[in-house]
Amino acid sequence: MSDEEKSERQKRTEARAAAHKLKNDPFWTQLESADPMEKLLNLDQEIRTDEAFDAAEKCEECEKLRSFSKDETALCETHFAKAMGF
Ligand SMILES: [Zn+2]
Repeated sequence: MSDEEKSERQKRTEARAAAHKLKNDPFWTQLESADPMEKLLNLDQEIRTDEAFDAAEKCEECEKLRSFSKDETALCETHFAKAMGF
């Protein structure tokens, strides 16, 4: 499957997974061999990251970065920090 064929939703899911990996979260490490997307739905960490990404969708700064970088997963400083749990 090419990048173009991926849905927006899949890209966001990948971005969230990447965010968790960046955090080097022990939960994530534990879940890597399981079905991460299923299990992460129940984790506070995931909810917090979700909230950051949801907020980022309505954020002008994120929007600017996304169109500038052509990267659907781009986040502004504020929301990147939020997604990382800072
Ligand atoms: Zn933002």
